[in-house]
Amino acid sequence: MPDMKIATIDDQTIDDLLRIAVEHNPDSDVEMLQRAYDFASVAHGGQKRKSGQPYIVHPLATAITLAELGLDDDTIAAGLMHDVPEDTETTLDDIKKEFGKEVAFLVEGITKLGQLKYRGIDRYVENLRRMFVAMAEDARVILIKFADRINNLRTLDALPPEKRRRIALESLEIFAPIANRLGMGEVKGQLEDLSFPYVYPEEYNWMVNRVIPLFKEKEEFVHEFQQFLIAELKQRGIIAIDAHGRTKHIYSLYQKLIKNNRDLAKIYDLVAIRIIVDSVAKCYEALGVVHELCKPLKGRIKDYIAQPKPNGYQSLHTTVFAPKGFAPDDEKAHIVEVQIRTAEMHKEAEFGIAAHWAYDEFKHHKKIDRRVDWMQQIIDMQDNLTDKDLLLESLKIDIFQNRIYAFTPRGDVIELPEDATPVDFAYKIHTDLGHTCSGAKINDQIASLNTTLKSGDVVEIFSDPHRKGPSADWLDFVNTDTARSHIRSYLNKESRSLLDKTKDVDY
Ligand code: MN
Repeated sequence: MPDMKIATIDDQTIDDLLRIAVEHNPDSDVEMLQRAYDFASVAHGGQKRKSGQPYIVHPLATAITLAELGLDDDTIAAGLMHDVPEDTETTLDDIKKEFGKEVAFLVEGITKLGQLKYRGIDRYVENLRRMFVAMAEDARVILIKFADRINNLRTLDALPPEKRRRIALESLEIFAPIANRLGMGEVKGQLEDLSFPYVYPEEYNWMVNRVIPLFKEKEEFVHEFQQFLIAELKQRGIIAIDAHGRTKHIYSLYQKLIKNNRDLAKIYDLVAIRIIVDSVAKCYEALGVVHELCKPLKGRIKDYIAQPKPNGYQSLHTTVFAPKGFAPDDEKAHIVEVQIRTAEMHKEAEFGIAAHWAYDEFKHHKKIDRRVDWMQQIIDMQDNLTDKDLLLESLKIDIFQNRIYAFTPRGDVIELPEDATPVDFAYKIHTDLGHTCSGAKINDQIASLNTTLKSGDVVEIFSDPHRKGPSADWLDFVNTDTARSHIRSYLNKESRSLLDKTKDVDY
């Protein structure tokens, strides 16, 4: 099995595509793929991308991503032609005549899906619905959409700033969680990391300039500790077929930091070692050896093999104290997460449903893959649910774990962590709105400011312009950094100005 990795380099050619397709599937129909490329090139003719490049560069990059995911020829061909019916004179019928029903069906699916734009709760739900319908018909459609989006995010700089943010936000809020739910860790990571700088530029810079350098310092230590574990395992007859210090995706690292109040010391899996062995039995054996050598941290041993995550993720996780002699003096550097899994589990974790659906396997797995069952359940649920709040509520449980999406009365989506309150919501919109908020309505009902918000809630904030500022009590229930830091800095300023006034009187 060739290494599955999504390349990040541009200026690829059709030869690169054909080579990658054959690497993953020796029986790949290169003649057909070449024809699809020529067909799309002719159809797009002299069209140029916003960046000035010939248009074909984009569908080619999309197809290459699909080939890297190990998908079948029809999907790759559909990737090459995915923008043809919408953007050129060439029709879906033409594609059907040249390439058959299957390819035309996939291209049609991606065309129908269109661009996911939303404003307000109705469009949001409607677009999610379209996404799920497309997935249920044939999940390969959504994989083409992901590949298309990854490439568009890479060339986002060519668009005006407003558009950049919208596309990036949508990728972060809708595409990435769905990729995650489909078990596609690598695709999710790419979607998030590519969107991150556009959606939260300041936070991104903070990560790159302040956090990542700290992380790099630990790399050498992690490498040595990893070598030590591999040697010890080998002595006991367990061969690590692969092992790597895990490079965490920057956005997921950021999410973890936010959850832990930006306290780097609390993130034990900031550095992790991944050990890949050849059987499930060896996973448990290896875990035993790791615990024999290193004391595990209480409550951090997780058996995702016996109990996989809802998206199918399997692995053994443990966090251990590395023996003395590896770490520098810093106490925290001793703590390392170790993940143990089989090669099969690894492929699953990175590529999810795509790992299953390579070549012909795909069709046979269609009915049995539990993640497909999950999609089907959502479709069934939608058919029975006309209540939008209920629908969003159930989508929240299923896709948007750990984050909620509430709405302003105008329908703007506000993303918040779980347990957020109307005060968090107000600060997220504007500092002044936070400072002056005096009450809230949630779904048209008056609610207290410490109510816990749910996904799909429509939140109206009442602002009292005469209000002096936030109350110190709010610190007891707010759950976002934004709210907390604004309240604190206001209160600090307030106490300072009181001191100033006292001085004035003294004089
Ligand atoms: Mn496209």
